Amino acid sequence: MSAAGDATAHHTGSWKMSYFLNEDQRLMRDVAAKFARNELMPIANQIDLTETTPEWVTNRCGELGFLGVFIPEAYGGLGSDLTTACLILEEIAKASPAFAGLLSVEMILCPEVVRILGNEEQKQRLLPASASGERVMAYSQTEPAGAANVAFHQTRLTQDGNGYRLNGHKLFCTQGHAKTYLVMCRTEKDGAQGYGCVIVEAEDEGFQVQKYEEKLGWRGTNTGPIAFTEVAISADDILGNILSGGPDHAPANQVSFIGHAATSLGCMEGLFDLTKEYVLQRELYGEPMTRLSPVTDRMAQIWTKIEACRSLLYMSTRMHDEGGLTLPMGSACKAYICETAFECTSQLLQMWGGSGIMHSTGVNRYMRDARAKMVAEATTEMHHSIIAGTIGLGGPFASLADRLG
Ligand SMILES: Cc1cc2nc3c(=O)[nH]c(=O)nc-3n(C[C@H](O)[C@H](O)[C@H](O)COP(=O)(O)OP(=O)(O)OC[C@H]3O[C@@H](n4cnc5c(N)ncnc54)[C@H](O)[C@@H]3O)c2cc1C
Repeated sequence: MSAAGDATAHHTGSWKMSYFLNEDQRLMRDVAAKFARNELMPIANQIDLTETTPEWVTNRCGELGFLGVFIPEAYGGLGSDLTTACLILEEIAKASPAFAGLLSVEMILCPEVVRILGNEEQKQRLLPASASGERVMAYSQTEPAGAANVAFHQTRLTQDGNGYRLNGHKLFCTQGHAKTYLVMCRTEKDGAQGYGCVIVEAEDEGFQVQKYEEKLGWRGTNTGPIAFTEVAISADDILGNILSGGPDHAPANQVSFIGHAATSLGCMEGLFDLTKEYVLQRELYGEPMTRLSPVTDRMAQIWTKIEACRSLLYMSTRMHDEGGLTLPMGSACKAYICETAFECTSQLLQMWGGSGIMHSTGVNRYMRDARAKMVAEATTEMHHSIIAGTIGLGGPFASLADRLG
């Protein structure tokens, strides 16, 4: 069995935060930690190597309440706060950062888009089924013109009698076992009024998953291009009012960025715990490896960086949960924690010597997942651009602060 699969590492991490957590938050964190350790860790390396996540994993997340944790109780969820959602993602990422990335999309981003943009009928239709895992959702924005370059996006919603038609194609859509797609598109109008979101079902005629990409990291999440050819869209499938301008779903993105940062925190902690166990038992030159001061020095530095990221993350979730702004804290968390996770996982990998390079140990996937996270859900540079715009330095995202207040 792999080193990662064998591991019974003592997971520390969010346990340090217990003092700040309420009983519900501690309970959900413990349930997630148990699931991650006992059910996910044994197959985490297989998910990475085969690029396949069994559907039961998603179903189990529905049963355990994870998929509905951030969905209001009125729509079949647990109505918990962002702190709880992030604690779950952090624990799950310790075992499989790739699956945690997918879960973040299904648990936070998609339900938030529906909660913010949807009318009552759409929320009742989509959210309870998403919470149970019966009908999880995917979010599709990126096009060949660039993810954030929405003015140049080509996927179009056009009027057709009493209904509408959707045509176009999207890149890099992370789908897992999604049955419902939230698709960003343009209408015939120009400008902000002409950009918004429609609901497409996997079984809709004219919808096609073109392929699943083989990826460096975040493997097993079914990411790939999707296409729409004359897909019939009824007025009930338009989220918000893109035809005349409606609420902006950018707050959903900001909250989602924090969820992704939580997965990167868990990613570095997961590898830290495995590496700590490894260096404690490994002997070099007849002595424990921990007698080498560069090892303990580096581990201490990484531990400190992890704790700095934890402070940034949970300070931001608390701000959110107490009604404070998430802009630009979502971007700050996403950029800083994801960059730090790549730096730390790369250094931790080095301590495994040749064993870290071999896929069979299940160690290098943490570094590859951390690397993919620096691009997925907007690159670090895009997040810096959002931060710059928000703090008054101008640039392409300067209007975000005004729009979101
Ligand atoms: C594993 C994975 C999963 C993904 N899942 C999804 C998904 O589910 N749904 C979805 O819609 N998309 C998804 N994506 C797409 C992802 O959001 C985009 O790849 C990412 O936002 C970058 O956009 P791009 O690929 O178009 O790069 P580009 O926009 O072409 O960027 C190219 C370069 O320009 C830089 N750049 C771009 N804009 C700016 C700016 N404003 N300021 C400074 N530098 C900038 C970038 O940092 C990058 O270095 C996924 C991507 C990956 C890797």
